[in-house]
Amino acid sequence: MSRSLDFLTEALRRLPGVGPKSAQRMAFHLLQHDREGAAMLSRALYQAVDTVHHCAMCNTFADTEVCDLCADASRDRALLCVVETPADQMMIEQTLTYKGLYFVLMGRLSPLDGIGPRDLHLDKLLGRAADGAVNEVVLATNFTNEGEATAHYISEMLKARGLKVSRLARGVPVGGELEYVDAGTIARAMLDRRSA
Ligand SMILES: [Zn+2]
Repeated sequence: MSRSLDFLTEALRRLPGVGPKSAQRMAFHLLQHDREGAAMLSRALYQAVDTVHHCAMCNTFADTEVCDLCADASRDRALLCVVETPADQMMIEQTLTYKGLYFVLMGRLSPLDGIGPRDLHLDKLLGRAADGAVNEVVLATNFTNEGEATAHYISEMLKARGLKVSRLARGVPVGGELEYVDAGTIARAMLDRRSA
């Protein structure tokens, strides 16, 4: 029919969970009913790919070299909290109990999916944790098997360098992902964190 349409459908299939049928539906929808939305989507993608990168300090997504939170002089530089995703970081921010800085792994160790220590930029984390200002690293990965394994690995890595490491307390249920736990529970888990 149209080479451009095929190209668009192929591109939409790059999205997670989108198969050939739904990619085709999306393409038809955009071209038939929402050309303005399609143009907006293409501009947003173009701009994001061009400007969004990883914060030099915490590894989260940012437009600037260092993100706003890392640049905030009122944050406590002695505390470094390790989370899996920006969404987990936001959950901890919402509790208003934590005033330190973060390191965002952008994932978790997952041997089955082929995600090892190198994919998580653990060397970058090590550099941050050993910068001389950090006094305690709080591991706030999820309480899933993979999150626990990730916390264990990082804990051993940092302790081997003589760094103080703690883990969120078990207020968060086993198998719990921070993103779906209420702020009060996370706040408690942060206050009751234990040494790892
Ligand atoms: Zn940052």
